[in-house]
Amino acid sequence: MDALRRGCLGLQRWLLPLRCLLCQAPGADGTDLCAACAAELPRNPRCCARCALPLPAPAALCGQCQRRPPPWDAAWAPFRYGWPLDRLEARYKFGRDLAAGRALAEAWRREPRPLALPSLIVPVPLHPRRLRERGFNQALELGRPLARSLAVPLRHDLLRRRRATAAQTELDAAGRRRNVRGAFEADADVRWPAHVAILDDVMTTGATLSECARVLKGAGVARVDAWALARAPSPRG
Ligand SMILES: [Zn+2]
Ligand SMILES: [Zn+2]
Repeated sequence: MDALRRGCLGLQRWLLPLRCLLCQAPGADGTDLCAACAAELPRNPRCCARCALPLPAPAALCGQCQRRPPPWDAAWAPFRYGWPLDRLEARYKFGRDLAAGRALAEAWRREPRPLALPSLIVPVPLHPRRLRERGFNQALELGRPLARSLAVPLRHDLLRRRRATAAQTELDAAGRRRNVRGAFEADADVRWPAHVAILDDVMTTGATLSECARVLKGAGVARVDAWALARAPSPRG
């Protein structure tokens, strides 16, 4: 099925030249974004070393991480959640526009990589019911090309959702923490490597990634990194 889909995609690309998903100009470097729009995706170079929160001035840690550091060890979020990345993300996640997802995955893949790579990448799991509704796990589809490019194995079956949770977007920071508490379960029958990265599409308060990190640490993982395509500029609650 995958091969068939790839074949169709290849044929489609041969028949229809790549067009930028944002401005319809010709796509650059074999992608669905033109060079100008790809350059306009908001990068996140000046951010908290621990939680990747965009900072107005260079500082090692944000105020929140100085007071109460997250349960993960390091974060990597190469983009800020803002125009025009937010438009592509909305089309991908809520409009099921897989071409937008491919463009985002490709943009992530091209960003400078962290110095210390994990031995395993684990995407934040969706509850089976949400997966059926959406048709795909947005974190998994973003993570696959990245994992291939970094030559790090990715497993989506080792961390599971024990229960369905309400959409985080409707909740404040404390509500988000409560909402995901106890929602995840790590496979107890595998030997977890010492260094694992959990991967999500967008990090907002970090509640979901925190809960996943807590569960992985409980399963014996020594170092957990939190990876997200983009960091929303709101403070971690
Ligand atoms: Zn463009
Ligand atoms: Zn921070």
